[in-house]
Amino acid sequence: MYDAIVVGARCAGSPTALLLARKGYRVLLVDRARFPSDTMSTHYIHHHGVGRLESWGLLDKLKALNCPPIRKFTIDFGEFALAGVPPPVNGIEAGYCPRRLLLDKMLVDAAVGAGAELREDFTVQDVVFDADRVVGILGRAAGGPVIAEKARIVIGADGMHSRVARAVNAREYWRRPTLECAYYTYWSNVPIDGFEVYRSNRRMVFAAPTNDGLACIGVAWPIAELAAYRANVEASYLATIDQARGLAERVRAGRREVQFVGTAKLPNYYRRPFGPGWALVGDAGFHKDPTTASGISDAFRDAELLATAIDAGLSGARDPARALAEYERARNRETRALYKLYTTHISSLEPLMPEFMEYVRALRGNQPAIDRLLGVLVGAVPVGAVVSTRNMVFTMGVRGVGRALRTRLSRAVSFIARERTPPSIVPARVRAEYNRIAPMFLLGSALLFPHRARLIVREVIPRLGLKGGETVLDVGCGAGHNFPHLLAAIGSQGNLIGVDLAENMLALARRRVEANGWRNVALVLGNANDLDFLQPQSIDVAFYSLSFAILPDRLAALDTVARALKPGGRLVVIDWQPFSGWWRVMNPLIYLSMSGLPSSNTALFKRAPESAALVTQVFPNSEYREHYAGSLYVVIAASAPLGLQASLNEPVHAPR
Ligand SMILES: Cc1cc2nc3c(=O)[nH]c(=O)nc-3n(C[C@H](O)[C@H](O)[C@H](O)COP(=O)(O)OP(=O)(O)OC[C@H]3O[C@@H](n4cnc5c(N)ncnc54)[C@H](O)[C@@H]3O)c2cc1C
Repeated sequence: MYDAIVVGARCAGSPTALLLARKGYRVLLVDRARFPSDTMSTHYIHHHGVGRLESWGLLDKLKALNCPPIRKFTIDFGEFALAGVPPPVNGIEAGYCPRRLLLDKMLVDAAVGAGAELREDFTVQDVVFDADRVVGILGRAAGGPVIAEKARIVIGADGMHSRVARAVNAREYWRRPTLECAYYTYWSNVPIDGFEVYRSNRRMVFAAPTNDGLACIGVAWPIAELAAYRANVEASYLATIDQARGLAERVRAGRREVQFVGTAKLPNYYRRPFGPGWALVGDAGFHKDPTTASGISDAFRDAELLATAIDAGLSGARDPARALAEYERARNRETRALYKLYTTHISSLEPLMPEFMEYVRALRGNQPAIDRLLGVLVGAVPVGAVVSTRNMVFTMGVRGVGRALRTRLSRAVSFIARERTPPSIVPARVRAEYNRIAPMFLLGSALLFPHRARLIVREVIPRLGLKGGETVLDVGCGAGHNFPHLLAAIGSQGNLIGVDLAENMLALARRRVEANGWRNVALVLGNANDLDFLQPQSIDVAFYSLSFAILPDRLAALDTVARALKPGGRLVVIDWQPFSGWWRVMNPLIYLSMSGLPSSNTALFKRAPESAALVTQVFPNSEYREHYAGSLYVVIAASAPLGLQASLNEPVHAPR
């Protein structure tokens, strides 16, 4: 019986095994590979990842792998380039780009040196349950019989296709579609100045020096152009390099040393990383587009967080589930802002937002600000510290602000910066306020809602093409004002699910349902940001009426709904927003009149414009319309076309 079995022995598994073994636990580390073993991955390690290797006593071993330190970063936007040196992280001033063949062997050896027992060529086939608790693994060495091994905890560090995650049915969240495909190879005689990135015409090129005087040079194309790329891998690769001014000449003078390696299997997801007797770490629990170049460094950080949590649980210092929940929270806190920035924007390879480019242009000549921005990319500086309204305004000066306002900078900032939850929309407060006003709600709403009802009946329902028998989710249903209109369209064969977080409001809805004898309405008391009960592809329409803009995490909500929508499903968002045009003069009055309403209404009003933009960005197939002098908008979005994920093929290795 082991204390821990770690499945997968690369960037996530070996450090986890090493840290647990060093704490005195009996650890079995297994991998179906035999090391040294290469894997599909370029291999830049950010400053914070290097810092972890240092704290584990492995920095000298990393340096001995003989790949040069990388201090300088250059990002060429086509029109101009920014170059600089990101600030150090805890005294670490450089990143490194060691071949995985060497790095992973170094990590495995370190785990064994710390006392972990290693089994190579060992494939895990399943986990063993005792009731609902994982108590071990089933697996076999190459050519050997299937055997069982038991442990107090089984850790899946087995990458994005994790067998452990599948066996325990780990819940996935914040999933985003694959955005790009990436191909790379190694060149000799191509000098690289630090880490070079070139971005233009929906293409990206990256280059970094690695071991043995080689340069690792890769390209990325949007996933929609995968077939065109694969039609001729070498020609596509070289044509992309040709767009990288300055690099192209060096590459043409160099020599390609190995075949191209590439993949289009680059999903973006988080998984719940723990449960009774099991945990996930590295790509098994969290995978994101490699444009971030942070999978390795993130795996190091999470190995440390997980080992600390497991130690707390196994030693009895803390409740194991609480310690592991803290691990999940810390992982998400550390990664969410960059995940959002890349998966909603940068990795799509679409032209960067004009507002953002305005800001980047304004940085030219301001070396400290450039270094800080580069610091965001290497994880040395929090996203919010650079991409915040205050900082942008400070950086751009008065003229820049004028230009930025014309290009709606604030909207761009709100996309990129960490989503901050204004105090007025913290769910507990919204719930308390709505519970308090519920008794007066029916009277107040008679004054406030006639426009909306008219709009829903005359425009929204016809545009939606709502049909008899469909299932509608009314999120933030309140007292059920929309129920009669929705039910009239879906008929007695359809299903309506109303969700609200205030029990007094839901009681009003329940009274309405009972009074009308509606049998096909289910009411759920719950937080709209946490719709765990929804099965994938189970609803036809998700309906947010005056509720979307006050969700604390709108991206997460869109993500959940995207998964719950059936093929051909639709999303509707209706929100109030400030008047535009001459009617703007009314806005102060509107704010004044809101003083008696729950404070979330003011937040809704302020956040509504960016909420609409967010929906249209996440659901490209959407239509936005304004009504009543721009003071009320309706976005109707169709769920993403299916089939894209299914068409992604296995990794391709094109011959030289
Ligand atoms: C094209 C590309 C470029 C990238 N570039 C970078 C970069 O520059 N910087 C960066 O930080 N990250 C980069 N990444 C991401 C990085 O490769 C991963 O985040 C990282 O490898 C995750 O490490 P891991 O240990 O979690 O998983 P993996 O490296 O996938 O290791 C999982 C291990 O589990 C083993 N395993 C799986 N199933 C079983 C089983 N059933 N039984 C036994 N063993 C099993 C496998 O053999 C493997 O050794 C890139 C990825 C890609 C695809």
